[in-house]
Amino acid sequence: MTFTNQIVAVATCRTPYKQKFGIPRQPGLVEARGYVELEPHVNHIDAVRGIEQYSHLWLLFCFHENLAQGWKTTVRPPRLGGNEKLGVFATRSTFRPNGIGQSVVKLHGVVQRKGKVCLEISGMDLVDGTPIIDIKPYIPFSDSITDAVGGIAQDAPKLISVVYSDNAKAQIERYAQQETYTDLAVLIRGVLGQDPRPAYKKAKDDPKLYQVALYDLDVFWQMAVDNNDQEYILVLELKPGKCG
Ligand code: SAH
Repeated sequence: MTFTNQIVAVATCRTPYKQKFGIPRQPGLVEARGYVELEPHVNHIDAVRGIEQYSHLWLLFCFHENLAQGWKTTVRPPRLGGNEKLGVFATRSTFRPNGIGQSVVKLHGVVQRKGKVCLEISGMDLVDGTPIIDIKPYIPFSDSITDAVGGIAQDAPKLISVVYSDNAKAQIERYAQQETYTDLAVLIRGVLGQDPRPAYKKAKDDPKLYQVALYDLDVFWQMAVDNNDQEYILVLELKPGKCG
């Protein structure tokens, strides 16, 4: 069946995540701050009148960076170590027939920035520039189902320890004095604590130098092993990035 409802983005999401690698795999896992900026055709304060009475919002959005790659009937969820296949509709895969994603985010308030009505949010799992196709209040009595069964994703993923080199520590402290980067330490710890490596890379003794782009900084890190043979992530240094 076809229908003619043309979908146009109502907003753009502004986030510290400048590339897909490193973004948490679901919302609410990292306290990153961001904005939802209304597009000109809906940019009116009346369009969000009353929204501040809700603590959380649903964002419906387009996985715009993946549309060109199409979709497949089955996918290999990272949760299953990338070995087992599930149907696309049995997963939150970002490669979907209509490329639509949905995330619950925390709402902090409504602000006006450079003539744009913006919703200040946190906890989003979206890359900077993601087109938002709808915004709705989260309604606990109906949206929160306490005895729901979460299949392969029943619990939040386990966290890995994150340790800073002396150099990285000093850099983070210096950056944190600037307003843009006040939450940088929390952000780095939250993002890397998820161990963003793809499942197939999670073999022991991984020597690779990794990089995640947060704000306009590239954060370099690698895997390390402590005296008890426990793996952790060592943050090496921060450099001004290409994506800023
Ligand atoms: N909560 C959403 C998204 C889950 S997948 C849902 O269930 O529908 C989250 C991943 O989407 C992130 O880790 C990131 O890699 C990817 N992502 C975020 N924004 C994207 C975008 N605009 N285009 C393509 N992939 C995106």
